Amino acid sequence: MQAHSDQARISGKTVVLVPTMGYLHPGHLSLVAEAKKHGDEVVVSIFVNPAQFGPGEDLEAYPRDFDRDRALCREAGADVIFAPDPDTIYGPGYQTYVTLEKLPQHLCGLSRPVHFRGVATVVTKLFNIVKPHAAVFGQKDYQQLLVIQRVVRDLNFDIDIIGAPIVREPDGLAMSSRNTYLTPDHRRQALCLSRSLDRARERVQAGETDPDRIRREALESIEARPDAVVDYVTLCDPHTLEPVSTLNRPVLMALAVKFGKTRLIDNRILDPRP
Ligand code: AMP
Repeated sequence: MQAHSDQARISGKTVVLVPTMGYLHPGHLSLVAEAKKHGDEVVVSIFVNPAQFGPGEDLEAYPRDFDRDRALCREAGADVIFAPDPDTIYGPGYQTYVTLEKLPQHLCGLSRPVHFRGVATVVTKLFNIVKPHAAVFGQKDYQQLLVIQRVVRDLNFDIDIIGAPIVREPDGLAMSSRNTYLTPDHRRQALCLSRSLDRARERVQAGETDPDRIRREALESIEARPDAVVDYVTLCDPHTLEPVSTLNRPVLMALAVKFGKTRLIDNRILDPRP
């Protein structure tokens, strides 16, 4: 992969990386389309990264279908798939990790303590292996995008980080490889995530400035679904993820809710300005 990227760079091509864990859906493919706008050679990495799964999470069960992913990548116009084995990425004696001091102390980092260390480490390794000029990440994983932007700034990576909007199912559910775990009943109940974000936006547009009221309303409507177990509903600063006490500027509203073993996330920026 490094030799291939060196060659692409020598011949004057711009390399753009789209990191994924595979089991691709239209959300991932929108990142490939975005990547094509920013470069000549689009590399999709497919790697279910063991380091970002905690004990008892769904590493083993995570859906995988390489042949299907390959066909989708080809159709979407990706040039290269980089799909390493875990042993290649974390060889014997592996012991180097990238950790952030503050961003992981919020949102998903609280219930997934090793997650962002795993993400920051694997993405750092992918940057060194693929040597891209730019990389595209979805806003669906908003906190992950912030973490990567921070790592790039802090470690002086000469890589442009591009954020791409959330792609949703026609009824509003944010697309995710994990949606395949949902039973039809949980799939219906899962609509409460995007609906409570829609409702919050309406409330802010109507002049609501109290983040607590918006949060309580969202909690009530989500907890009214029989199987929803809320991990968090948070309104926070979109750069630092620190909680906010008033809605006088754009605020991130982010949610994580479990249905059975399936943990879903969603988010939206709430902008009080007219
Ligand atoms: P994953 O395979 O879940 O690790 O995701 C790989 C990349 O695709 C990440 O940058 C995600 O944020 C992005 N992604 C996943 N789902 C969506 C979606 N529904 N819309 C936009 N980007 C997404």
